[in-house]
Amino acid sequence: DSSSGSSGFFSKRTFPGRVPAGIGRKSLRIVVTGGAGFVGSHLVDKLISRGDEVIVIDNFFTGRKENLVHLFRNPRFELIRHDVVEPILLEVDQIYHLACPASPVHYKYNPTNVMGTLNMLGLAKRVGARFLLTSTSEVYGDPLEHPQKETYWGNVNPIGERSCYDEGKRTAETLTMDYHRGADVEVRIARIFNTYGPRMCLDDGRVVGNFVAQVIRKQPMTVYGDGKQTRSFQYVSDLVDGLVALMEGEHVGPFNLGNPGEFTMLELAEVVKETIDSSATIEFKPNTADDPHKRKPDISKAKELLNWEPRISLREGLPLMVNDFRNRILNGDEGKGL
Ligand code: NAD
Ligand code: UDP
Ligand code: UDP
Repeated sequence: DSSSGSSGFFSKRTFPGRVPAGIGRKSLRIVVTGGAGFVGSHLVDKLISRGDEVIVIDNFFTGRKENLVHLFRNPRFELIRHDVVEPILLEVDQIYHLACPASPVHYKYNPTNVMGTLNMLGLAKRVGARFLLTSTSEVYGDPLEHPQKETYWGNVNPIGERSCYDEGKRTAETLTMDYHRGADVEVRIARIFNTYGPRMCLDDGRVVGNFVAQVIRKQPMTVYGDGKQTRSFQYVSDLVDGLVALMEGEHVGPFNLGNPGEFTMLELAEVVKETIDSSATIEFKPNTADDPHKRKPDISKAKELLNWEPRISLREGLPLMVNDFRNRILNGDEGKGL
């Protein structure tokens, strides 16, 4: 039957030559787009360690081969240099779609959120794979509801400097739901809140990476605006556990995946100072346009339906990224990937 994209030769959910992934479960072939990036590379580690085959698609826009080099000799791992804005043919069971220029410095550069998501949904439709979109808390914009539940529709400026990212992800969510309703693609949507940990891009403008790198370099931490805006910071292994629970579970979402522990930027600076160097200082800089004033996830839905919640607090998680940052800064590996 060639009339439906989800049947025919490519729709087979398992492929020949597969090794078992452990007792009672067949190994899966899984694509991770953006797998050379910060979150993606940790996700790939988890999938490989449980016995699955992983294909990473990445154009190294912000990702780095160094994040995956420890897997290069593993026969269950493949790395393809490819821009997801272009179509690609693969035969897989699951697609984790993370590819996205994800920081303020990079995200205005290309249409990945729209074209990349469309191609990955087309691929999922053709082979009958399950598709997971990593959306973002930014879909809530500068929220008028606090904390944010998944039912909140958001307060987003459609023509502002951040719109390419916010609206790009909102469009990606729309496309995902359209393929689900219109083409019966099995989909999952995660709305990820600010996440930090080892392998984060250095100097890409995100606040935890900025502060940690600045303190290691003996520079003042740059606090934008009055520093009273809030964010809620999640350690990367908690996020990866949530993404896998979502993919494996029965619910489409969207699900907020974040740590509800909320901090002002001044409080964050204080925690970084306590963790790395008690002589660290701060300096105030003008804030960027449309900066959300506060953000904190309501994670009741993920707790109830995915049986997931974060385990690692900011004070526990920050020390776990310091060595990685110190080594990269000492080696002059700034990791911008551009
Ligand atoms: P990252 O920049 O480290 O990773 C993104 C990866 O995508 C990089 O390896 C990059 O090279 C790749 N990429 C970008 N454009 C591509 C393209 N056109 N084709 C192929 N590959 C491409 O960022 P991250 O923090 O790991 O983010 C991963 C995902 O999680 C993104 O979708 C992001 O929007 C989402 N997210 C992250 C956070 C966070 O705090 N880290 C918060 C909300 C949402
Ligand atoms: N696509 C892809 N790989 C596939 C199947 C589709 O990259 O295995 C791309 C395809 O080139 C198209 C997009 O996904 O640009 C959407 O595909 P779909 O079949 O839904 O749309 P159509 O091609 O019918 O417009
Ligand atoms: N921020 C800051 N100093 C920096 C970088 C960012 O004070 O060096 C602030 C920024 O104004 C925002 C918050 O930190 O209020 C989080 O910014 P980030 O870009 O990390 O994430 P997002 O705005 O996407 O939540």
